[in-house]
Amino acid sequence: MSMIDGLKTGLQTAIKKLIDKPFDEAAVIEFTKDIQRTLLEADVNVKLVFELTQKLQKRSIDEKLPPGLSRKDQMVNILYEELSIILGKDDAKLDLDKDKCTILLLMGIQGSGKTTTAGKLAYHYKKKGYHVGVIGADTHRPGAAVQLQTLCDRVQVDFFTIGSEKDVLRIALGGIVQFKQNKKNIIIIDTAGRHKEESTLLKEMNNLWKNITPDFCFMVIDGGIGQEAIKQTQAFNDTVSLGGIIITKLDGSAKGGGSIAAASSSNSKICFIGTGEGIDDLEIFSPSRFVGRLLGMGDLKALLERVKSLEGEDDEKKMKRIATGKMTIDDLYYQLEQMNKMGSLQKMLDLVPGFSGVSNKDIDSFEKNAVKWKNIIQSMTKYERENPEVLNSTRIRRIARGSGSREFDVKNLLKSHKNAKQLFKSNRGRGLNQMMKKFNSAGM
Ligand code: GDP
Ligand code: MG
Repeated sequence: MSMIDGLKTGLQTAIKKLIDKPFDEAAVIEFTKDIQRTLLEADVNVKLVFELTQKLQKRSIDEKLPPGLSRKDQMVNILYEELSIILGKDDAKLDLDKDKCTILLLMGIQGSGKTTTAGKLAYHYKKKGYHVGVIGADTHRPGAAVQLQTLCDRVQVDFFTIGSEKDVLRIALGGIVQFKQNKKNIIIIDTAGRHKEESTLLKEMNNLWKNITPDFCFMVIDGGIGQEAIKQTQAFNDTVSLGGIIITKLDGSAKGGGSIAAASSSNSKICFIGTGEGIDDLEIFSPSRFVGRLLGMGDLKALLERVKSLEGEDDEKKMKRIATGKMTIDDLYYQLEQMNKMGSLQKMLDLVPGFSGVSNKDIDSFEKNAVKWKNIIQSMTKYERENPEVLNSTRIRRIARGSGSREFDVKNLLKSHKNAKQLFKSNRGRGLNQMMKKFNSAGM
């Protein structure tokens, strides 16, 4: 089982057990034990694991329960926060300046995934509109140049190497000169990792790094090495100034969690992760997003971004208001509209914290309710939408009649709007699942 699946299953099983049982000391102990086991299986360092579980227990006792959150919610939320800390500091920022030529140097041991990653990076930046050139500076492995040339051809990116040349520095410098002339704004250099001794590899890398002075020196690590990643990272960090780490093969290794945790505890940041052999299987690494996915909490941030990208500037404010629990009824209407616009509700729900376990039946009835709700909202005056507290029984009767629904439905909408506001505020969206269940059980 891959590390993402392994961790995901372990963590989500633990959460499910916690949720299904009454919340007491025994449940907390079992929960922390389950988390420990899962993380240790992913080869996360023992010390880190115990620190995390201690914090889990301590914080769940010490911290006051935020309004609208259950003890169990709080527990899961703390796990989310603490795991995010273990698996990374903050998001890597890799929007490179298009007006200048950025040089990326990839290094790492044989088989770690450098050449594959060079192709993936070239594709990644090409898609973002950069002019990319790739240099093959692996003179140790026969066939290395062909492998990279093939990848570059596939994504239609220029490739440079000198077949007869054994001096990697000459190749790299030659490529840089040519690509600079061709106005490339990103140059990616792939290097060798096959050396009899680590010290000769490190010496070659140091020589390249000193003479090329790249903007970023990325170290590529095979996720399968688990917590050994810390040693590798340190060895390279002592040799060059690492701009970041790329962890590959997270689709295939059970120990990936350990390598992420280990790499995060070094001085450098994980910038990308490789999740497959395909050219598209590269992700910018975001610890909170990654943990959200592991815990099945989805990714509220990605959802907000997607909604934002559909609408203009003004909506940024709207989404912020919604996410901070200040949503008006107009905002609710806007959300219902967005759900239609985005087409697949299911796809969107995958991004929303708490929604991942929702069945198709729930979604169908949710979509039906959405239509009914929109009708109800349209029957309200602007004043009523902004000040729902004025909705007395006379107004509610009028709105029900105007929208062809029952007074009961109008009241339900008002109640759910109030709940949703509260949930967003306290839960940063994780209560949406609950909210949807409530809509549906309201019999609408
Ligand atoms: P290099 O020696 O560091 O250049 O490593 P390569 O790029 O040649 O990769 C070694 C092997 O790992 C190849 O078979 C790749 O297809 C494979 N590989 C690289 N990255 C990934 C990844 O993210 N997932 C999987 N499953 N395989 C990968
Ligand atoms: Mg290679």
